[in-house]
Amino acid sequence: MDYQKILEDIYQEILPYSKVGAQADYIPALAKVDPDQYGISLKTVMGESYSFMKADKRFSIQSIAKVFAVAMGLSMKGESLWKLVGKEPSGTAFNSLVQLEIEKGKPRNPFINAGAIVVADMLMSELDDPEGEFIRFIRSLCGSDTIDYNMEVAVSERSKGYLNAAIANLLKYHGSISNDIEDVLMFYFKMCSVEMSCEELAQAFLAFTNSTPFEYAGYKMTSSQIKRLNAVMQTCGFYDEAGEFSYLVGLPGKSGVGGGIVAVHPLRYSVAVWSPRLNSKGNSVMGMKALELLTTYTQESIF
Ligand code: GLU
Repeated sequence: MDYQKILEDIYQEILPYSKVGAQADYIPALAKVDPDQYGISLKTVMGESYSFMKADKRFSIQSIAKVFAVAMGLSMKGESLWKLVGKEPSGTAFNSLVQLEIEKGKPRNPFINAGAIVVADMLMSELDDPEGEFIRFIRSLCGSDTIDYNMEVAVSERSKGYLNAAIANLLKYHGSISNDIEDVLMFYFKMCSVEMSCEELAQAFLAFTNSTPFEYAGYKMTSSQIKRLNAVMQTCGFYDEAGEFSYLVGLPGKSGVGGGIVAVHPLRYSVAVWSPRLNSKGNSVMGMKALELLTTYTQESIF
């Protein structure tokens, strides 16, 4: 399969979408990002690597960080993680409060903000140095020790993070988080502020592409846990557009409001794409299109 040519052809085809949508501006630091950027990187389990455009430029991974947090959570807590947070699609926006109130503080899944805040709280309760451990795990998955938090982005998100603060307060009211609300929020915003390139994200997600058990930075996942992580990405990785992504692309994946999307073709490849302009659901317009064309041209998906 000539993946390099496919990545280049895809770009030509999605160019008409290059001005559609806008970057997330509810996080002031992200409003400053040049929206007209694009990169893609695909890495196979056989060790081949294909990149196009700005594949080595780091950007804010935002909600993609939630996958790393769940991987650590599954590694440490196993199935008991699901006592804290569910694994059903929410069908609501990533920052919605509605379901959380009705369902008395148990978030539907770990990829909406409420669920990720609960997982952040759990990591804080279990680990002496959650911030250090979180970044060590990501660095180890990528084999890069320069990946880091961007404090300007984290502090900027906190300055306008009224909705996430409301979610954290509702969680605290229901006893779903145990640490101090402000500390949990700041850890959550820091996790979202991590910066990685498409190449680094594709490399990191190779661990979830192979079904081989792994250990990175002391965190072990079994084949079964890798399968389950992919299952939750498939059903819940794209907020209230999870069905659409599954329909158009046919791979498990996760998006972030920084404009990144990572997807996994189990036992074949991981692919990361980035373009900051988002659709109304918070997913990258060019990123969604690129992955739809990738599975169309290769005629490979999980279905
Ligand atoms: N930090 C973002 C928020 O909480 C993450 C959202 C996302 O990427 O979907 O709003």
